[in-house]
Amino acid sequence: MAENTGSAPGAQRFIPPGADTIDELRAASGGCQGCELYRDATQTVFGRGDESARVVLVGEQPGDMEDQKGLPFVGPAGRLLRKAVDDAGLDPSQIYLTNAVKHFRFELRGKRRIHQTPDRVHITACRPWLVAEFARLDPEIVVVLGATAAKALLGPTFRVTKQRGELLPWPASAQHPEDFTQVPVDSAGRVADAPEARLLATIHPSAVLRADDQDKAYEGLVADLTVAARALPAGRRPE
Ligand code: SF4
Repeated sequence: MAENTGSAPGAQRFIPPGADTIDELRAASGGCQGCELYRDATQTVFGRGDESARVVLVGEQPGDMEDQKGLPFVGPAGRLLRKAVDDAGLDPSQIYLTNAVKHFRFELRGKRRIHQTPDRVHITACRPWLVAEFARLDPEIVVVLGATAAKALLGPTFRVTKQRGELLPWPASAQHPEDFTQVPVDSAGRVADAPEARLLATIHPSAVLRADDQDKAYEGLVADLTVAARALPAGRRPE
């Protein structure tokens, strides 16, 4: 499939200004037509997890199984990620999982739906959902999984291969930190400066599944996630 270099209206106009919670955002995302990906996919796959999660993991886009079930990280890559999270010592109940792009992009080959990497136009169109999610979350660690998530949060010049496993300041390391510097403090819509957090980039779990040496790639993923686990303070950050 050729790169879509055109423009898309973007998700912003589908985000209700009064949506205070992740559940409200998720409900609204079901009607998003911010780019053309909604046409062929089964449904929007929004993030899941507790709003108070200490760790937010951001992947690329839903895969075939996620598209059918409407849930992120429930396919083979998701299973591998859950095992890596366990092996790294991260508490799964403290994790919020989401994707940079909320619809499955694929190419039909016969009856098979083959994953296609989202283009810049899709990442840009979908970014308002990611920004809206972060405005309702309060993570201590953000983990970006793979190049697409890194582009969405950190900009096109960030190289996961060069900077994986490094703890960076969040939101200061974001491409537009101003998009992520405010968090809500109450249901009346009042906001405050987001507390300082950290960001770490690593490979996407699907890259482990595609690697020639899967054991080595898996060890690398776990090593990076272990850096994130160790960077979490022993207790929840004070409010
Ligand atoms: S990929 Fe994102 S912007 Fe495009 S239609 Fe889906 S939710 Fe909207």
